[in-house]
Amino acid sequence: MSAPRGVAVLGSTGSIGTTALRVLARQRERFRVAALTAFSNAALLREQAEIFAPSFVGLVGDAAAEDAGWRRGPECLVEAATRGDVDVVLNAVVGAVGLDATLAALHAGKRVALANKEPLVVAGELVAEAARTGGGEIVPVDSEHSAILQCLAGRPRAEVRRLVLTASGGPFRGWSPERLARATVADALQHPTWTMGRKITVDSATLANKALEVIEAHFFFGLPYDRIEVVVHPQSVVHSFVEFVDGSVLAQMGVPSMELPVLYALTHPDRVPDTGVPPFDPVELSPLTFERVRGDDFPALRLGVEAGRAGGAAPAVYNAANERAVALFLEGRIAFMDIPRAIESALAALGGMPAGTREALLAADAAARRHVAESHAC
Ligand code: NAD
Ligand code: MG
Repeated sequence: MSAPRGVAVLGSTGSIGTTALRVLARQRERFRVAALTAFSNAALLREQAEIFAPSFVGLVGDAAAEDAGWRRGPECLVEAATRGDVDVVLNAVVGAVGLDATLAALHAGKRVALANKEPLVVAGELVAEAARTGGGEIVPVDSEHSAILQCLAGRPRAEVRRLVLTASGGPFRGWSPERLARATVADALQHPTWTMGRKITVDSATLANKALEVIEAHFFFGLPYDRIEVVVHPQSVVHSFVEFVDGSVLAQMGVPSMELPVLYALTHPDRVPDTGVPPFDPVELSPLTFERVRGDDFPALRLGVEAGRAGGAAPAVYNAANERAVALFLEGRIAFMDIPRAIESALAALGGMPAGTREALLAADAAARRHVAESHAC
């Protein structure tokens, strides 16, 4: 076997980051942890550094950390992503803040295993261009997109009629609009099938996560928005469907676990033996059910798909307004249904801002965050 490939795990202390390290601990013959970065959890980062002995450790935030030799500050992400001993960058930070590391890794010719979906939503065209010019490659970690990649199995886009992303429906699937208006932070953090970071858990409750994923699918697989659909599937066992032009439909299934999509993003198109996913028992997992999305009650999905269709700066504005509004909701400063209201208001005011360059998109991102903060200033 060839030498192990170097992996940088950006956001190693988060939900995906710790999942990835469990996978990498089992796959030491194939992969070596070359770099780790975290925002503020210095204690866990130190533990991870002791176990994996990476050549680079970076702490982005200003938490006190006594460890000599650690790199500090926001530049850590790009530094880790472009190191010579790194072949694969597993980007598992949360939010648009992961954009520069994604672009830099692709420019440097690395494989980016992308969990951090927000940068692709903000700057899908720039990310694709960075991969083209730098020779890098981008592989999805998101379970729906990993499922689609596995179903496509290299078939050309012309053979694909439709993608159908599955959505668990989140904790509020059966809730009435009246009840949704009173939903608390604790309610929103009770996801029925996945244990994830707080931001994506709230996004799953509003269905903004599914909007981000529709835009993500558009950029990953190059299909127009009218051929990307969403269906609610509360059990999260079917991770997505691909319908081909002859009418055949393929689905990828498995017990809900991010270990498989993380591993597949590292090894694609190969498969390697692993024990991360429990054995598949269709009877045990039965019944598998599907429902239409209640689009009127969860407007964040429609707003996001409209922003995707509009293109330009609109997806960046959508994402930034959502990030800011989710933070305000988590701080207890706005109500649950204020999240889609804040997004709608930001899109109406700023969706037409200039786009096309990183600087223009970051200006739209900053303006949208200001718009939401000022609309809700106490
Ligand atoms: P999380 O909050 O659990 O972890 C985020 C990680 O990013 C942490 O290690 C944190 O230290 C780091 N981080 C946070 N802010 C940062 C900043 N400003 N600069 C640098 N690093 C920072 O989040 P998560 O649930 O692991 O999600 C990470 C990404 O993966 C998100 O984009 C999410 O949408 C996506 N994703 C997550 C899941 C899941 O199951 N958790 C599934 C699919 C996609
Ligand atoms: Mg997903």
